[in-house]
Amino acid sequence: MKRILVSGGAGFLGSHLCDQLVAEGNQVTCLDNFFSGSEQNISHLLSQPNFKLLNQDVTHPLTIEVDEIYNLACPASPQLYQRFPIETFKASILGSLNLLELAKSTGAKIFQASTSEVYGDPQVHPQPESYFGNVNPIGPRACYDEGKRGAETLFFDYHRKHQVEIKVMRIFNTYGPRMSATDGRVVSNLILQALQGRDLSVFGDGTQTRSFCFVDDTIDAMRQLMDTSKEVKGPINIGNPTECTILELAKLILELTGSKSKLAFVPAAEDDPLRRRPNIELAKSIIKWEPQISLQEGLVKTIAYFDSYLD
Ligand code: UDP
Repeated sequence: MKRILVSGGAGFLGSHLCDQLVAEGNQVTCLDNFFSGSEQNISHLLSQPNFKLLNQDVTHPLTIEVDEIYNLACPASPQLYQRFPIETFKASILGSLNLLELAKSTGAKIFQASTSEVYGDPQVHPQPESYFGNVNPIGPRACYDEGKRGAETLFFDYHRKHQVEIKVMRIFNTYGPRMSATDGRVVSNLILQALQGRDLSVFGDGTQTRSFCFVDDTIDAMRQLMDTSKEVKGPINIGNPTECTILELAKLILELTGSKSKLAFVPAAEDDPLRRRPNIELAKSIIKWEPQISLQEGLVKTIAYFDSYLD
């Protein structure tokens, strides 16, 4: 049994991670200020003796005895982080700094939830970890992209300077039950619109691509990376290499929901990356991981979640 801190533990990914860690009997502390996380995601855990909620902002320093730290605290939806760019940048940078200090003083291993956004609008396709990316440092997505890039810098400098054991994972688009219904991500938006008989909002011409990974696969990868030997630092890409256009996604959601909704094309978002697909060769060789759940299978589970959410 380990003492594990999950920052952002009430979020979409964080709450699924807490579920697994609690079920295995670990002593789990979930740190969240509910800026983008939700109490509903973790309400079922509150009665568990090995689960503790710390309602606190990751930008404030904290002292706690831990063996492992997962840092997931940061708004991750483009709509949300563009509305709150300064809060987002601070959560990434100050949050990482605080948790790295904690890792340094306790000797804990620390995991960083980095992102495919470090590649920006990529000119190399698919993206390997060795690609340095194409990020506009002053654009509307920079608060997130540069925040996460800066966090990676801090992780590697704490490792080099203070021998902190780090695990950096670059997470590509992930979807599944407990995605926020209001933060404007494409999978949640389109499913909700289809279920409610509203037009499906396709940004631009819908030819931009993403590669969607089901949450259970992503959580498995996080756990596996944390359990690697201390030489394994990352960064390591985690995502589903099956690429699809947003138009294909919209059509699949219409088919799976049986919805009669139409597609509505709306202007493209600024700096929206046109293509995104992970090269996962490193994940395959280092943690023997590749996604097990197809887009169709994962969407069926996610549609069922939003269906009951609307009831
Ligand atoms: N998108 C869309 N309709 C929506 C929301 C998003 O067409 O209602 C597009 C968006 O422009 C982007 C892709 O879907 O090209 C993925 O957007 P999301 O916000 O889910 O995540 P991102 O990968 O951009 O971080």
